[in-house]
Amino acid sequence: MDIPGGSDSIDVKLPVWIPGSYMVREYAKNIESFNATNFKGELLTWKKIRKNVWRIYDLKKSGNIQVSYDVYAYRLTVRTCFVNAQYGYLNAPAFIMYTDEFRNDSLEITFNYPNSWSNLSTALKRKDDNKNIRVAGTYDELVDCPIALGNATTFKFEYNGIPHDVAVFGEVALDTSQLKEDIFKIVDESSKIYGANPLKDYLFIFHVFPKGHGGLEHMNSTSMIADPAAFVPGDRYRKMMSLVSHEYFHLWLVKRIKPKSLIQINYDEEMYTSLLWLFEGFTSFYDDYIVARAGIHNQHQYLESVVDNIETTINTPGDQIQSVAEASYDAWIKFYRSNENSKNSTVSYYSKGAMIATAINLHIIHETKGKKSLNDVMKELYEMHLADPAFGVTESNILSIFLDVTGLDMSGFFKDHIYGTIPIDYNKYLGYAGIELIRTDGHRAVSGDLGATIIAGNDFLRVQRVRRNGPAWESGLNVNDKIIAINNKDVADDISLINDIEIGEEVTFTVLRMGATYDINVTAVPSLVQDLEVTFFKKLNEQQELVRMKWIGGMEDSNSSR
Ligand SMILES: [Zn+2]
Repeated sequence: MDIPGGSDSIDVKLPVWIPGSYMVREYAKNIESFNATNFKGELLTWKKIRKNVWRIYDLKKSGNIQVSYDVYAYRLTVRTCFVNAQYGYLNAPAFIMYTDEFRNDSLEITFNYPNSWSNLSTALKRKDDNKNIRVAGTYDELVDCPIALGNATTFKFEYNGIPHDVAVFGEVALDTSQLKEDIFKIVDESSKIYGANPLKDYLFIFHVFPKGHGGLEHMNSTSMIADPAAFVPGDRYRKMMSLVSHEYFHLWLVKRIKPKSLIQINYDEEMYTSLLWLFEGFTSFYDDYIVARAGIHNQHQYLESVVDNIETTINTPGDQIQSVAEASYDAWIKFYRSNENSKNSTVSYYSKGAMIATAINLHIIHETKGKKSLNDVMKELYEMHLADPAFGVTESNILSIFLDVTGLDMSGFFKDHIYGTIPIDYNKYLGYAGIELIRTDGHRAVSGDLGATIIAGNDFLRVQRVRRNGPAWESGLNVNDKIIAINNKDVADDISLINDIEIGEEVTFTVLRMGATYDINVTAVPSLVQDLEVTFFKKLNEQQELVRMKWIGGMEDSNSSR
């Protein structure tokens, strides 16, 4: 790094987190061999004054100073850095330092990489049309532009004159014309919700490797990780399209319309918001919704995705312990740092947030007799952002925005379901559209449930998780108990013994715990996990027909599918 000198000392810093992923990741742990020199090449003294801050001294006469360091880059996620002989994937906050003094100044970066790599993909602009020298208006802009290097399959399309580039890194057979057509439709449907697309250009980066799935949103680009199987038509393809839709939707919601508390980023520490149920949850509602509007999900598949989210939520005991507002605030220490007890004590602001959006959307359509929907609220939020870039969403203004746009007072709903843990009556809201959820439980209906996740270890069975208030919890079976016998018979690693337990059967587990053995009796109950299915009312009244039409009318019927 070249930094203008001048003052007595300067602090050079590396962020501890990346915006969009709410966890302190301690990127500085990967920094090695830090060095600072003056313009003559003479070494300058420096000292670390925080885990992520290097203070360089005696700059007075030194003119520009140069800072150099090595970075260990071998973690392939959408929030870290990875380099091997084939490929490079870089996120600026994980490897490029900055100074508070020059954070808002423009900067340029020169990339040196093997000649055999033909692609450098990033939303950073070229300097003088030189592919390998890129510029950013500010450090924050740089942070928002992930960088991928190597050999990619690339293609592009225009949407209303806005160029959209797609770069796919990794070994995968692609049907680029299908991919282009589907991504175009997602871009179109998302833009229609807000009524305007603010982009000058956009870049989709895919990293393809086995078992990969995930993405991170940025101002004018997104980087996503996907499995090679996700590029073949089927469930996984549609799931990947939901990811594309999710990250693209964020370009409005969270990258432009922001929580007030996240407008000015502090890279040194956690930044809190209680609104991730909106920024992530509503985005999760819209990701599948847009994929269905684009004709990639048919109506049946869309409703299945709704049911999946409801099942995920109601089958999480933590849904009755933690509100989504709390889940948002504590994302840093809970959502991103899950453990064996997480399902008992936390709820996902993604899936629960998506269900809150579904319920609110149906409520608005029903109450306004189809004149308004959640889309109108999203549009208003975007218009407020356009009118005042300093506008940010707060816990109080969001309620008045709902009231202004729809005429509906949502404060009771917020109190019960966003700040409280009162279960949402999904059938009430789905009933507005003439749809009912019924419990099926399928294969679970016949076997007994112990309320514990038990896995096979090496010559024993092990308790991995215990469900809050289930039979195992009540009987005192603990996480990490080694089960050595069931009803006095050796179990070794025969997991089928667990699966064959019947409803009402009492089982004696002999467990090894901290060097001692204990007998624990547990009685199996009917399935604690609910499987749900959508059924349609046989007859709809006019109002239900109107709500259903506005919500899922026009989606492809069940015969067509990717
Ligand atoms: Zn997201």
